[in-house]
Amino acid sequence: MIELRNVSKTFTLHNQNSAVIKVINDVSLSVGRGECVALTGSSGAGKSTLMRMIYGNYLTQSGQILIDGIDLVQAEPRDVIALRRETLGYVSQFLRVVPRVPTLDVVAEPLRAVGASASDAQARAKELLAQLNIPQRLWSLSPTTFSGGEQQRVNIARGFAHPYPAMLLDEPTASLDAANREVVLSLIEEAKACGAAIIGIFHDEAARARACDREIDVGKFTPGLSSSSGAAGQSK
Ligand code: ADP
Ligand code: ADP
Repeated sequence: MIELRNVSKTFTLHNQNSAVIKVINDVSLSVGRGECVALTGSSGAGKSTLMRMIYGNYLTQSGQILIDGIDLVQAEPRDVIALRRETLGYVSQFLRVVPRVPTLDVVAEPLRAVGASASDAQARAKELLAQLNIPQRLWSLSPTTFSGGEQQRVNIARGFAHPYPAMLLDEPTASLDAANREVVLSLIEEAKACGAAIIGIFHDEAARARACDREIDVGKFTPGLSSSSGAAGQSK
């Protein structure tokens, strides 16, 4: 479902003599349906960068990133947009929303985007918000003024509303209390049972061990700092 072939990523630091740092070096991996794989490695190892690459966020890079057979490196922008709508979910660390949109609509939106009726989408949104212990009085308000923990739970509810066959989870259990962490772990379990291929970053070792079937140490693909002059403008 998710397959990387010889993927590398360098950043060119324009404010530092165009030094080139290679953050990801020649990663190949494959995640099948019903499987959750953890990205591990120390801070700065490149976990978030690799996850953003798998979401198709970098235009120029080497190697292949195949999501359900579609190569994100070669895909047209509209194909990436369609893939993100239908196939590839991403729960980032922070909620980003359009101001003034009620929480219920924020969570229902991914289902509306794939053609679900308003009532079906709202029913699923209500179910998730209740599961994640967001009080009903908040559902009609925009989440922009919610606490950090509430926003994170709204973000997770939205991320799990549509049953994506491939999912990327960036610290989905960070800063949640034990009860809500359990809810997230059960949502992951459910998604796996429905055949989702999941890649996650989990700081919390216990949560990682429970959610994930195996681990990939991104650190072993981090070659460290190299320098090169005259490479300005080339970010590969
Ligand atoms: P992790 O998620 O494992 O903590 P990151 O993927 O956030 O690691 O970062 C990996 C390395 O790439 C770090 O050294 C970071 O400074 C660098 N990096 C990430 N994004 C950029 C960028 N846009 N430009 C330059 N360097 C970056
Ligand atoms: P984090 O909250 O994990 O730090 P970032 O803010 O670094 O995530 O976002 C990672 C990347 O994913 C960014 O390049 C951002 O543009 C993209 N992104 C995040 N959320 C969405 C979304 N809902 N739709 C499209 N792109 C998104």
